[in-house]
Amino acid sequence: MIKLENIVRPNILELQPYASARDEFSGKEGVFLDANENPFGELNRYPDPYQKELKQQLANLKRIDSNNIFVGNGSDEVIDLAFRIFCNPGIEKALTFFPTYGMYDVSANINNVELIKLPLNQDFQIDLEKVKPYLADNGVKLIFICSPNNPTGNLMNKSDIEFILSNFNGIVILDEAYIDFTEENSLIDLINQYNNLIVSQTFSKAWGLAAARVGLAYANSAIISLYNKVKPPYNVSELNQKAALKALENIDDYQQNLATILNEKEQLKQALQQLDLVKKVYPSDANFLLIEVENADKIYVTLVTQKIITRNRNKQVTNCIRISVGTPEENQKLITALKNIQ
Ligand SMILES: *Cc1c(COP(=O)(O)O)cnc(C)c1O
Repeated sequence: MIKLENIVRPNILELQPYASARDEFSGKEGVFLDANENPFGELNRYPDPYQKELKQQLANLKRIDSNNIFVGNGSDEVIDLAFRIFCNPGIEKALTFFPTYGMYDVSANINNVELIKLPLNQDFQIDLEKVKPYLADNGVKLIFICSPNNPTGNLMNKSDIEFILSNFNGIVILDEAYIDFTEENSLIDLINQYNNLIVSQTFSKAWGLAAARVGLAYANSAIISLYNKVKPPYNVSELNQKAALKALENIDDYQQNLATILNEKEQLKQALQQLDLVKKVYPSDANFLLIEVENADKIYVTLVTQKIITRNRNKQVTNCIRISVGTPEENQKLITALKNIQ
């Protein structure tokens, strides 16, 4: 167990958060003359700053307590607030693995926090021997682990994650943006066992709401309180909260789309494997496939000229392209275009 007060930035521990009008009175019925809102219109009222209804539905779905949930303006906010809560700029560090999601690096740079990037091993797994020296370093405050990892598509070994959780004196952010696409379970239950774990998930991928910007953090209630203290008061708009609630109400649509995507992923994988220009299709626990080709830069550009946009990851994994699973028609267009290249 970590002592949270020892690893939070002192200014954040002492911070008096902004008390919004809706903090002081949160009932639904009343004559609201407290927030200088316009009394007319449909989106005229400030949204619930704590997204209680959305959290209640998520709590039911995930079988956890509402106090263990933070809702952010996308996972990007979950990541950014972690830096702001735990890392003194210019002094303390964070750590992640490479290749992985680019936002950890950007967010670290914005917050003036050095990000140590340790290479994953040949199987894209964490090399514990390389991590060990950093676990005891009190200057390292955060470790980002992405599982399933973007762009490699694989899950990280649970035993490695648990080793880090038990031996690290800082916060582990486990990014499970793609967890819905795998048959393995989320590690969300580990928040009851490790008080230094934040599990982040999102409505942007399997729930189909990338435009709505709704990200989630699951952690013990002390960490959630810190997030609530530091976040902008109305960080998730009424439109976004409603969009997420609607998605949760239509769980059948979610499951149907998920099944379609997983089926398409299998078809796409088989079609890709039959192409001579594809040297390897990496196993994937996500909704994308990482493929190795002869010349990724060339193939990427050729596809773009046909208005087919993939993600060139040549700089992260040599000659690799990341392909999101699209609709059957979109996937077919990609395969046809690739066939014409060879
Ligand atoms: C897409 C993605 C997210 C989602 O970010 P949002 O801000 O919630 O849209 C988070 N983490 C990873 C690794 C991703 O690839």
